[in-house]
Amino acid sequence: MATPSSQGAPGSPRHAAAEADVDAVVVGAGFAGLYMLHRLRAMGLRVRVFEKGDGVGGTWYWNRYPGARCDTDSVEYSYQFSDALQQEWRWTERFATQPEILRYLEHVADRFDLRRDIAFGTTVTEAAFDDAAGCWRIVTDDGARLSATYCVMATGCLSAVNRPAFDGLDRFAGAWYHTGAWPHEEVSFAGQHVGVVGTGSSAIQAIPLIAAEARHLTVFQRQANYTVPARNAPLDEAEYAAIRESYGELRRQASETPTGCWWAVNPAAAEEMSAEERERELEDRWQVGGLRMYGVFKDVLVNGEANDIAASFIRDKIRAQVRDPEVAALLSPRSYVGCKRICLDTDYYATFNRPNVTLVDISEAPIEEITPTGLRSGGRDYALDAIVFATGYDAMTGPLFRIDIRGRGGRPLQATWADGPRTYLGLAVEGFPNLFTITGPTSPSVLTNMVPAIEQHVEWIAGCIAHARGTGRPCIEASRAAEDSWMAHHEEVAGGTLFPSCNSWYVGANVDGKPRRVMPYTGGFPDYVETCDAVAANGYEGFTLSAA
Ligand code: NAP
Repeated sequence: MATPSSQGAPGSPRHAAAEADVDAVVVGAGFAGLYMLHRLRAMGLRVRVFEKGDGVGGTWYWNRYPGARCDTDSVEYSYQFSDALQQEWRWTERFATQPEILRYLEHVADRFDLRRDIAFGTTVTEAAFDDAAGCWRIVTDDGARLSATYCVMATGCLSAVNRPAFDGLDRFAGAWYHTGAWPHEEVSFAGQHVGVVGTGSSAIQAIPLIAAEARHLTVFQRQANYTVPARNAPLDEAEYAAIRESYGELRRQASETPTGCWWAVNPAAAEEMSAEERERELEDRWQVGGLRMYGVFKDVLVNGEANDIAASFIRDKIRAQVRDPEVAALLSPRSYVGCKRICLDTDYYATFNRPNVTLVDISEAPIEEITPTGLRSGGRDYALDAIVFATGYDAMTGPLFRIDIRGRGGRPLQATWADGPRTYLGLAVEGFPNLFTITGPTSPSVLTNMVPAIEQHVEWIAGCIAHARGTGRPCIEASRAAEDSWMAHHEEVAGGTLFPSCNSWYVGANVDGKPRRVMPYTGGFPDYVETCDAVAANGYEGFTLSAA
């Protein structure tokens, strides 16, 4: 297996443990893994990447469901580490489709000659720190083994599919799919009775397209979600030329917003505005579309009254679009807006006016079982030819727990995090030396534009590894005190927001038995980056260095 492809730049510091096969193993070849490989390789490290899929792309390799596209504007959902790359690539639409994002990542892999260090179709099953040798011992699903001084988990936040264990699925006579593991082959629903379970971002994108194709679509909804029009459109030449010219400035502006996106957050709190001003702000953001509803008032995610104003505006919009008042009421969420991820849609609510679409409320009558001919809920049988599970992910911790990760003394990560994830900066874990997580739990990650968040982590990790190697004490580990202090800050900030109030994947509420904790850092991207930079500037404060 895994032959290291380069021996490190002449004169570069040698890797820590003489017997380590490579300097670094990176798990995953999505946005995070690709850039991590590029960065570490540029430092002269011998790197091996393992990727479960047969190609690059991560999330964008697996999510091939109808309508899959990104909710962040394509021109900013892209790398900025190479200006040449961002100047040469041409996005065609405001919100890129999954195939276009995948083409982009394939282009990146080729442009930077990344594939030669990636083992595709290979799942990492174990990663254990060897105390004596001071290196990570990696095992893959083909039984092969490799040792590495550093181990970087570029496993994504939303890559461990959550498919609830519904009784009877194995006896279902029709075809079933999960949005997060969609087949590569064309799937046709023409002439079929189709059921979609779930009404999150994935379902909200897929439902209008499935409804247009299927004979009948039944949507099984547990909680309604807020969705805002995407207002997707092609990007014309003049618009694109202007973006290319000001890319640097737009990126800089984005880095100063809490979400790392270049739309502005309203500097005013709801109560500082008149009713007319609030209505105008809401309507403007609704008309422009996209996720900017998150910034409608500066306090929309921390103040229940401000949030109610935004929530009732969206509920009015739902009533205006859905003809049947009972269906409109069912589609109207009762929770705060934004404490579950706001969705973007194209014609979602209008789809429920179609004669071939039925909405079934399963909030009080959970799915009892999948039958050979469909699904039973609330004592009623629904006949289905195909079922689409749009049931989401075991977010943030799930991708890490699907690997048997063991730190010092064989301590399992899963047991260490039995009460919820604990990290230092969402990047490192006490007791797990030389292990890094890109956009790990307690980093801003999913509450920001993921690509800049990934780039910031990759660059920080690269700097940290360079520092450790440069000191001649290449083993670097977060201290317990630093982790405690970061976690206290993380929890204090989260406690001041509305996030804990919702049953969302942000808090692990979608997975049975998962401890309830706000997982992403809610203090905003600029504050977080400032903290990470200060830690680095202070000689990686909160970390201890050792020879092995
Ligand atoms: P999700 O938001 O977690 O939605 C899953 C849906 O399945 C929810 O409606 C959930 O109901 C339902 N569900 C889960 N378990 C169920 C069960 N046992 N019985 C019945 N219903 C069940 O997952 P997702 O839609 O895949 O999206 C996850 C995240 O991925 C998004 O929030 C977003 O961050 C990202 N994403 C982004 C894009 C994009 O950029 N365009 C697209 C797709 C996804 P409850 O709400 O009651 O839990």
